[in-house]
Amino acid sequence: MNLHDLNDMREFQEELTQESVNTFDVAVIGGGPAGATAADDLARRGYKVLLLDRAGRIKPCGGAIPPRAMKDFEIPDSMLVAHATKARMISPTNHQVDIPIENGFVGLVDRCEFDEWLRERAASHGAERRIGTFERIEHQPDGRAVVYFSARNHANDSGTFPAKITAKLVIGADGAKSEVARQNVKDAEKTKYVSAYHEIVKVPDQPPADYEGSRCDVYYNGKMSPDFYGWVFPHGQTASIGTGSAIKGFSLRGATALVRDAAGLGNAETLRREGAPIPMKPLKYWDNGKNVVLAGDAAGVVAPASGEGIYYAMAGGRMAADAAEAFLKTGNAKCLAMARKQFMKEHGRVFFVLGMLQYFWYSNDKRREKFVKICEDKDVQTLTFESYMNKKLVRKKPMAHVRIFFKDMAHLLGFAKVH
Ligand SMILES: Cc1cc2nc3c(=O)[nH]c(=O)nc-3n(C[C@H](O)[C@H](O)[C@H](O)COP(=O)(O)OP(=O)(O)OC[C@H]3O[C@@H](n4cnc5c(N)ncnc54)[C@H](O)[C@@H]3O)c2cc1C
Repeated sequence: MNLHDLNDMREFQEELTQESVNTFDVAVIGGGPAGATAADDLARRGYKVLLLDRAGRIKPCGGAIPPRAMKDFEIPDSMLVAHATKARMISPTNHQVDIPIENGFVGLVDRCEFDEWLRERAASHGAERRIGTFERIEHQPDGRAVVYFSARNHANDSGTFPAKITAKLVIGADGAKSEVARQNVKDAEKTKYVSAYHEIVKVPDQPPADYEGSRCDVYYNGKMSPDFYGWVFPHGQTASIGTGSAIKGFSLRGATALVRDAAGLGNAETLRREGAPIPMKPLKYWDNGKNVVLAGDAAGVVAPASGEGIYYAMAGGRMAADAAEAFLKTGNAKCLAMARKQFMKEHGRVFFVLGMLQYFWYSNDKRREKFVKICEDKDVQTLTFESYMNKKLVRKKPMAHVRIFFKDMAHLLGFAKVH
């Protein structure tokens, strides 16, 4: 063997090593709650996983999570910046109903720390993290996906360079308006969105008399949102104050100013102002029948009426990981449809009920007034909160269901006056 042959051999070996470094079982695009959960689950099961996130922006979010999320996804108490033990519902005429959160609390997370912790947990179990922005997928004849992205060495680097990897499967968890979904999944571009916006404010050393760091306030008021609600969620030293609406032209900033004033935090120091779209309903398809499956906001799973998306993103990430594993074991792309099927089986009914609730009760101030009024009902409080906390429609109290059913039907059908 001469020197020339040796050099050729070395180059060939380097190419092989490079190829194996850049070849994965699964490439997860997006390192929010959905992607980080999917990557963690698959890495723990021994699969070679890439977790690609573009980094550089804190996800705008109220950060409220139910105990079921902490339990199912082993979120330690140290991740919580506040524990809410009460929720206050406030009507257009300022009628207030305080709902104690029995048997537990709602946890509040700061997304900057929370998301990074989730990504690092996935990495600690073997997922490989890279920083970069997804660009496109090239589908190979053998079914593999070549993922092209513009990479950065560090989150703070301004310079980017082109990069690519190969994977047997791609999980698209790149959030609302997902590029992975738009390019690969049928009808994804038809998704409709609510615009949500919030301001992170510093809670003054002397907070307003009515402010409680362990209470979430929810404002049902057409001026603060014509089709959703305004909120004040405590985050320890800070608070998230915001609102949302699907109505184009509605001033979210103006409405947030009203919520701030109502909460007595109009003059508090503003640390950040940020907004983002929230998908309105689950997409019809979550996979491309070949090698791509979606999870979280990319799949459209945010609960109507509440706007709750973190738990559902994590649950969807886990279901995408299960579907991915079935696909990797069998090579059968039909397994990918399991993710949506399983999700809708577990949560479809709650989404439907919440959709009806939002459609009916959030449509005008008379109904909002009435809605806050019915929240005084102990049965309504127990059932709605237990369902939120545990993600199950409560079956323990059949008579309470019957009572609520008749009360709701009376309002829906107009037998009861909506004043
Ligand atoms: C103002 C507001 C308040 C909210 N409040 C709450 C709340 O209190 N409680 C609750 O449960 N839910 C809330 N939600 C909803 C919740 O934030 C989302 O449902 C949840 O973050 C969805 O998680 P995800 O992982 O699917 O997507 P995301 O959290 O959006 O994560 C997507 C990730 O993908 C990355 N990414 C995006 N594009 C690319 C790309 N091209 N290449 C590489 N990476 C990419 C992003 O960097 C991000 O890390 C709120 C939403 C908004 C907008």
